[in-house]
Amino acid sequence: MNKITNHMPTAELQALDAAHHMHPFTANTALGSKGARIMTQGKGVWLTDSEGNKIIDGMAGLWCVNIGYGRTELGDVAKRQMDELAYYNTFFQTSHVPAIALAAKIAELAPEGMNHVFFAGSGSEANDTNIRLVRRYWDAKGQPEKRIIIARTNGYHGSTIGGGSLGGMSGIHAHGGKIAGVVHIGEPNYWAQGGDMTPEAFGLARAQELEAMILNLGVENVAAFIGEPVQGAGGVIVPPSSYWPEIQRIVDKYGILLIADEVITGFGRTGNWFGSQSFGIKPHIMTIAKGLSSGYQPIGGSIVCDEVAAVIGSDEFNHGYTYSGHPVAAAVALENLRIMQEENIVAHVRDVAHPYLAKKWAGLMEHPMVGDAQLVGLMGSIALTPNKAARAKFSSDVGTVGYRCRERCFANNLIMRHVGDRMIISPPLVITLEEIDVLIERAWVSIDECYVGLKGDGLFK
Ligand SMILES: *Cc1c(COP(=O)(O)O)cnc(C)c1O
Repeated sequence: MNKITNHMPTAELQALDAAHHMHPFTANTALGSKGARIMTQGKGVWLTDSEGNKIIDGMAGLWCVNIGYGRTELGDVAKRQMDELAYYNTFFQTSHVPAIALAAKIAELAPEGMNHVFFAGSGSEANDTNIRLVRRYWDAKGQPEKRIIIARTNGYHGSTIGGGSLGGMSGIHAHGGKIAGVVHIGEPNYWAQGGDMTPEAFGLARAQELEAMILNLGVENVAAFIGEPVQGAGGVIVPPSSYWPEIQRIVDKYGILLIADEVITGFGRTGNWFGSQSFGIKPHIMTIAKGLSSGYQPIGGSIVCDEVAAVIGSDEFNHGYTYSGHPVAAAVALENLRIMQEENIVAHVRDVAHPYLAKKWAGLMEHPMVGDAQLVGLMGSIALTPNKAARAKFSSDVGTVGYRCRERCFANNLIMRHVGDRMIISPPLVITLEEIDVLIERAWVSIDECYVGLKGDGLFK
């Protein structure tokens, strides 16, 4: 086979892709006949595809390229680390500088009392670690029957069998099943499910499902509760302000462990280092990945509080990955965090980009098809609706309209994802105000083209 390069014709690349590459979360046969869009370069918030189009990436890849594309410092660090020590494990009483330095740096940034890091290769792996951590914790404390983890419908915690089981997405459960010992309560999705309640009353009610579930199962059987501070893949669902304080009250009252899945919300996304800080959550364990390395290397982990780490550490914990704390990934993550700190990127999100985007994002509600608009830090969503006042759903299958809107965005060189009929964004944290203007302009045009198309096809109902 000839060398495959960026200079091959797009159609040839697409044909090879279709012939050999199985895409995740994709109907591959259909994609094969349509042809994947092939990305070739990235710089800042901009991607270039194989046809030379310049696309603004409103999703930071998959919520991860927080410092933007094309930062050559990270490649320099990776090369240096590979040349010096490409790999060594941390299983058998050995360690190395990148893992040590990264763990110490994460402990410095994490909330008080969270000083220990167990490394993984991804968010899914880290959540698999968390299942074993919380069960082992209770086991070591002489309460091995405390095994059940309570999670939420429409939560996302990855797509391994463990992560997929914690997640509350029926489509994922349908493909391969789920493990025993995970149960789900309702999500705090006011727009779709709040009915006639006020957001605050609804947030309380959804949180109190946790208490009801604990009592129903018996607290002696419950190990932990897991939730994302803001649901990401579920559609950027921002909980009512009453929700997390009530969850915290219940977790404290019954003494179960609290896992905050910070894979998206960690490392600046919400305008603080961690989403738990933005929402006043006090977790025992935080899942991290994505923004930890800004996606430049695959790495994830669990940040563990002192008490849990002490119990786990009291004996051997039979768990770990070949690539836990991989030196190249750790060195790159460390360089990413150095840049985040040196360039005050969290403050840029909180004080500059968020306030500016918040106004413009809310401005999209002037469009007749946009109902809800939510934005926390730099993660946002809008609800597409045929009737805002009624918070109505479209009569077409859920996702039909969202998909059509996403196709318009794609055609207009804006990457904005759809979850059902919600449109979501999560741009690189380094986005400038001028780039926010471009993002909003393209979003408006795309929404409007979608709207006109729906009316033409008689689907705006
Ligand atoms: C992406 C994500 C995961 C899974 O991370 P992977 O690196 O894809 O395995 C877990 N939890 C949340 C909240 C995520 O957004």
